[in-house]
Amino acid sequence: MKLLVVEDEPKTGDYVRQGLIEAGFIVDLVRDGADGLHLALTEAYDLLILDVMLPKLNGWQILGGIRKAGKDTPVLFLTARDEVDDRVHGLELGADDYLVKPFVFSELLARVRTLLRRGSKVKESEMLRAGDLELDLLRRRVTRAGRRIELTVKEFSLLELLMRRQGEVLPRSLIASQVWDMNFDSDTNVIDVAVRRLRAKIDDDFEQKLIHTARGMGYVLEAPTCS
Ligand code: CA
Repeated sequence: MKLLVVEDEPKTGDYVRQGLIEAGFIVDLVRDGADGLHLALTEAYDLLILDVMLPKLNGWQILGGIRKAGKDTPVLFLTARDEVDDRVHGLELGADDYLVKPFVFSELLARVRTLLRRGSKVKESEMLRAGDLELDLLRRRVTRAGRRIELTVKEFSLLELLMRRQGEVLPRSLIASQVWDMNFDSDTNVIDVAVRRLRAKIDDDFEQKLIHTARGMGYVLEAPTCS
């Protein structure tokens, strides 16, 4: 599941992003409203978390912009305690929920999960499939040929990324930034080790391998097409 956080206050933004990454989400964080609207319109997110007061465009303008473009991505607003009218205004504009700052992370996570569950009743994207491999985004469960596979939070995120973009060779740098929030200069050995562990769980017991190495390029998940 991929989330966009638009928050100009560095401490809050980093806190929210870090927590969501640790909870297994893929997170983009930007600091101003113009970047936020641009990303919300061009990338596919499962949920947007918007601060109200932002440089360039405020949270409502972002919400207005995406609803006008016909996108029904769920939106959670972060509002300051003294902005009660803002909350009403946000809900009128089509926000799905709001959270008053300061908040504890567990509260944010609970709201996020509720909104994602609600949203997924309309969308069918809660299940990713590749051959006999299934990843259930909401229940956070993975099965292959009906057999349950236990993954760590990072392994789950890695597999989710590979499955969302199956057939595409993903460079280590991209995997590093999406799953570990590291840049390419960091130790990419971490990724090789994680992929090896994931493979052991996903592929070792099966004749048909799904995760492949594109030598010198990265990794790709590919299921054979049945004819
Ligand atoms: Ca702000």
